[in-house]
Amino acid sequence: MAEVALIGLGLAGSEFALKLASFGIEVDAFEKQDKFAYLICSNSLRGTSLKTAAGILKAELLALSSPLITTAYECAISKEGALTVDREVFSQKITAMINETPLINVIKKEITSFEELSSYKLIICAAGPLVDGKLAEEIKKLSGGFFHFWDAIAPVVWDYSLDKSKMFFANRHVPHAKDYLNIPLTEEEYFSLVEDLKSAETVELHDHDKNFFEGCLPIEEMAKRGDLTLKYGPLSPKGLVDPKTGKEPFAVVQLRQEDFEQKAWGLVGFQTRLKWGEQKRILRKLPGMEKAEFVRLGVIHRNSYINAPKVLDEKLQIKGTNIAILGQLSGIEGYIEAIATGMLASIFTANSIKKRFLHEEILPPQNTMLRGIYEWLTVPKKKFYPMNVSFALIKAKVKRKNREEFGKSSVNKIKEYAAYLKKLMPT
Ligand SMILES: Cc1cc2nc3c(=O)[nH]c(=O)nc-3n(C[C@H](O)[C@H](O)[C@H](O)COP(=O)(O)OP(=O)(O)OC[C@H]3O[C@@H](n4cnc5c(N)ncnc54)[C@H](O)[C@@H]3O)c2cc1C
Repeated sequence: MAEVALIGLGLAGSEFALKLASFGIEVDAFEKQDKFAYLICSNSLRGTSLKTAAGILKAELLALSSPLITTAYECAISKEGALTVDREVFSQKITAMINETPLINVIKKEITSFEELSSYKLIICAAGPLVDGKLAEEIKKLSGGFFHFWDAIAPVVWDYSLDKSKMFFANRHVPHAKDYLNIPLTEEEYFSLVEDLKSAETVELHDHDKNFFEGCLPIEEMAKRGDLTLKYGPLSPKGLVDPKTGKEPFAVVQLRQEDFEQKAWGLVGFQTRLKWGEQKRILRKLPGMEKAEFVRLGVIHRNSYINAPKVLDEKLQIKGTNIAILGQLSGIEGYIEAIATGMLASIFTANSIKKRFLHEEILPPQNTMLRGIYEWLTVPKKKFYPMNVSFALIKAKVKRKNREEFGKSSVNKIKEYAAYLKKLMPT
């Protein structure tokens, strides 16, 4: 039996297990599903530029040899502006890597109580925002209650069912890239879509707490905030010239390539809680989607998270326990942020098991995105809410024009940190 038990091989848990194994430490990983590291909604790991916080965080994670980010680049459908991956191939590769790593003992089992893991020295809980049942009740009790918000997923459509003669290929950020399909909308078509979205029937939320994550609102909620909200948001035509007219359309619906074979496309920004019949009715009015067949339709999920800065100690463990909480459940938001917490916890756990250094000695350097995420989860604050990586998380005030320079310097700091860790904790 290993000294460390892990619950959940999602994004945070998979990163944690693989990285911990790279430090030479064994882990018993309990997971109830067969597929690991599955991307639940979009297949985008966001921006690749060092001018963006998401781009910097990924570069920092690569500097630390992140197994998941390295694999994501190997599964890239596109790296042009944003990193999009084939989610099935990504999950297959990570699942195989984990199953083939001798120091990771995968145990297919749903954990219902921490009591089942009482003989382990450390328990790492990466059960994700959809954790439920008895385990959720225990985490709630230990952490003084959950917070919730609602998050929806977007429909995905089969390629064969699209009439691409009414669409065009283009990437708004990279002129030569053709990895998005674009549906140009006239002013009339745009406002008709907005009216449909505003008046369509939605699935009832059976909860008094009706918060949405502001960074990823359902499309119908965005439409209700103003008739032009979508035009200046996910349906922006900026940088997209329709080759048929030589002009930017009034608005554009974008479809992102889902897989290497181009068999399916995800509707960008169309996360929704509309009833399924309504989704089909409205989306089939879009030019080229009249006969659309859906791989999946949008659904809404209730995400849970804890008040991390109040509840967790400096090692991301629930105060007074040997249980660390990682991933979205800790109150960060997003795929790469979940992966970052897996990386952080692997370093902290390796140090705890090897009993080498003071915790302060192994923290990531200040003014890096990784440190920003760590502090978001551990430094007390008046109001805590789920947060994507952003320049707001770091201490330095970085002007827009200096972002790339900052990015380069933070990646260099993490490279030095990686070399330092290697010296401190050789495998
Ligand atoms: C509906 C929805 C849409 C989202 N869309 C996006 C998006 O488009 N982009 C983005 O960046 N982020 C998105 N997120 C947010 C977040 O990035 C993902 O939820 C991400 O998968 C979180 O990673 P995680 O490792 O914390 O949890 P998960 O990836 O959910 O992993 C948790 C794992 O734990 C396992 N598990 C749970 N309970 C148990 C148990 N009791 N015993 C054993 N195993 C267990 C699960 O099977 C799962 O494999 C979305 C979240 C939701 C809920």
